[in-house]
Amino acid sequence: MAYQITLIPGDGIGPEVIKEAVRVLETVGDTFGHQFDFEEVLVGGCAYDATGEPLPRESLDSCQKSDAVLLGAVGGEKWDGLPGHQRPEAALLGLRKGLGLYANLRPAILHESLKNACPLRSDIVGEGIDICIVRELMGGIYFGEKGRRTNNDDMGEEAFDVEAYSVGEVERIGRLAFEMALKRDRKVTSVDKANVLESSRLWRSVMIEIAKDYPEVTLEHMYVDNAAMQLIRNPRQFDVLVTTNMFGDILSDEASMITGSIGMLPSASLGEGKFGMYEPIHGSAPDIAGQDKANPIATILSAAMMLRISFDLENEAKEIEEAVTRVLEGGYRTPDIMSDGCKLVGTAE
Ligand code: ATP
Ligand code: MG
Repeated sequence: MAYQITLIPGDGIGPEVIKEAVRVLETVGDTFGHQFDFEEVLVGGCAYDATGEPLPRESLDSCQKSDAVLLGAVGGEKWDGLPGHQRPEAALLGLRKGLGLYANLRPAILHESLKNACPLRSDIVGEGIDICIVRELMGGIYFGEKGRRTNNDDMGEEAFDVEAYSVGEVERIGRLAFEMALKRDRKVTSVDKANVLESSRLWRSVMIEIAKDYPEVTLEHMYVDNAAMQLIRNPRQFDVLVTTNMFGDILSDEASMITGSIGMLPSASLGEGKFGMYEPIHGSAPDIAGQDKANPIATILSAAMMLRISFDLENEAKEIEEAVTRVLEGGYRTPDIMSDGCKLVGTAE
């Protein structure tokens, strides 16, 4: 079959890591007899430099017409002085909104051979960590009403951000989490703050309703403060963790740390249907750009997620993941994961 993939190399190390992921995809295509058609577009600082806009219309159009998007990274100090809507980060939000991507999946997997890069004690890590965080991406406090006002008291000006979730918004992210759990260890931990937040009480009641349709999946509720602690105390209790935009933002960074390096972790952003945007969780890393030092594994694993989720190519995805494991077992390391007795390699190698 033929698949149309829009590539967004972006800025900094983005083009370097995308190049390696494309090499991997081309090898998979040749081996399994699939045709991957790539279209490369400009988004981010490079797009601003070339066109005056961080997200040109034709770039978004290409994404909307494709079966999936593979993104490297956008942004960098060079564009930090620009007004908000011209900054590379605005392009990222524009892409998510424009493509209707309401769910962000971040698997946090600790590879056996990288256990010494994990800051947790070996008895806590045990046989390994494999958590999938499902973060709501288009609602909640980041998108709620915000503003300033002055009250009739002597406390001065006040600023507010509203956390609001509708049943429909919770339902679509909740169902995605349960579907995910069916393919994994059949446990969903829904993280909220239902002891104090009304939006969390609605969130929790919707999760309980969804669970009735998934009798094979165990649903557990956890307050966010406790979840932050449990991720360190006993991360092995988690399978799928589903939560709001802001709680997910914070907890997914916490979870990524326990797996070693930011250069290892992939992500998927999904909406309705099979379409998705896949990207490493790291940024454009201008400090190491152009030096052949960037770890391409996060992007390569993002390509594997793309094959699995958007194209239903499970065997091909596994093949890539196993190849990554073999490379690590072979002792090959980019500088970010280098340790004694290993072989230092560059991005391309
Ligand atoms: P953003 O705001 O885009 O998320 P950031 O400021 O959080 O970016 P990153 O660009 O992710 O930062 O870089 C953080 C640190 O991690 C830098 O020191 C960078 O060199 C390192 N880093 C990021 N990605 C990689 C990678 N793929 N391989 C090796 N090191 C990396
Ligand atoms: Mg960052």
